[in-house]
Amino acid sequence: MPGTPAESRETGARLIVCRHCDTLHAAVAVEPGGMAVCSRCGYALIRQSRFSLSFWLALTAAALVIFAIANWFPIAQISMLGKTVNASFVGALWLNWQNGHHILSVMTGLVGFWLPLTQLCFLFWALGSIRKGYLPPDFSLAMRIYHAAGPWSMVPVLMLAIIVAIVKFAGLANLQPAPGIWAFGVLTFMLTAFSRLDSVRLWRYAEDAGLVPASRDTGLPADAMVGCPVCGYVQERQPLVEMQQCARCGSGVHKRRPDMEPRVWAFLIAAAVVYIPANVLPMMEIRSMLGTSKHTILGGVVELWRLGSWDLAVIVFAASVVVPITKLAALVTLMVARKWKGERLQRQRTRLYELVEFIGQWSMLDVFVVILMAAMANFPGMSQVIAGPAAASFGMVVVLTMLAAMSYDPRKGWDRDSSQVPGGSKR
Ligand SMILES: [Zn+2]
Ligand SMILES: [Zn+2]
Repeated sequence: MPGTPAESRETGARLIVCRHCDTLHAAVAVEPGGMAVCSRCGYALIRQSRFSLSFWLALTAAALVIFAIANWFPIAQISMLGKTVNASFVGALWLNWQNGHHILSVMTGLVGFWLPLTQLCFLFWALGSIRKGYLPPDFSLAMRIYHAAGPWSMVPVLMLAIIVAIVKFAGLANLQPAPGIWAFGVLTFMLTAFSRLDSVRLWRYAEDAGLVPASRDTGLPADAMVGCPVCGYVQERQPLVEMQQCARCGSGVHKRRPDMEPRVWAFLIAAAVVYIPANVLPMMEIRSMLGTSKHTILGGVVELWRLGSWDLAVIVFAASVVVPITKLAALVTLMVARKWKGERLQRQRTRLYELVEFIGQWSMLDVFVVILMAAMANFPGMSQVIAGPAAASFGMVVVLTMLAAMSYDPRKGWDRDSSQVPGGSKR
């Protein structure tokens, strides 16, 4: 649907600050299903949901039940020479832990189980509190955790990994899908829908219910105002302070992220270094009665192609090779190309950053595939898949590039655009 550019400012109006270009806007009324975009950079400032708060609350309760089903029941049942294995995601985490892959199982356990669960619990609690019309004192802290957990919750990636692992395995043994896989499928759709309910949106629900103050325009210039990334509250900037505490939720708020350059470069260089073992070392080791073979990431893609699943080979290649390289190249471009002048180029820079944020977690795909295959092919003495040292390295690449993207401050790019006052709004 077409976006409505947010209006120019008016004293007393509710304020919104764009997190990409730091332009100050007066909030406009948006019809359900519509959105308002930043008039300067095109970022979606408000996405108005078609559903009511009560509907979202019911959907979250349902998602918690489905989360339990997805993790309690196996995702597949595999039989080989009279032996049967019930593979589940939680079982895969435990098996990899027992095999000594501690970093790997902690990392995948966090992003595939604990953080999505944390997110769902906090969402349920926050929606329930707002609906009751009472905000508990730890609401701010809960929203800070919720905001931090968001980008690391990777159930859709896990779902795709389950499909890839099952296709890889289907030709080798007798495999029956189990209830867990259907639950994961439903959960993927639900969690994608919940991505609309970020912490700023939940705070806005609380504002609409009259539980917290909303930011109002007092006529101060845009340079003297700063917006909170967690709750969206626009407040007066404290002079000479690099980071101040949000007056409403207590989060760290800065006009521009300090030490952006050294932080982004440090994470990028670390990611590029760890990317080498991730590609050179074996991702998994397959032990069968015929012998042992080791596969690198590219080897796994070639094997999928040979099995006839060229579509999945393309997906795994895109997620494991194209995505990490694109992410690294895009972030380096954003950091190096400092002389982007003019609004059109600046908008493209913003789109590039949005792309980096969007593709962030998808390279975790092959890491999930490996730990799932280890659980599916758990027939010691007959057929066994063991995670290789590249799996943990590859997971580290994903984490480091995501940290680099989070340390990047897109607002700084707009400061270099001389055609506008930095952080200025059109009055
Ligand atoms: Zn903007
Ligand atoms: Zn705040």
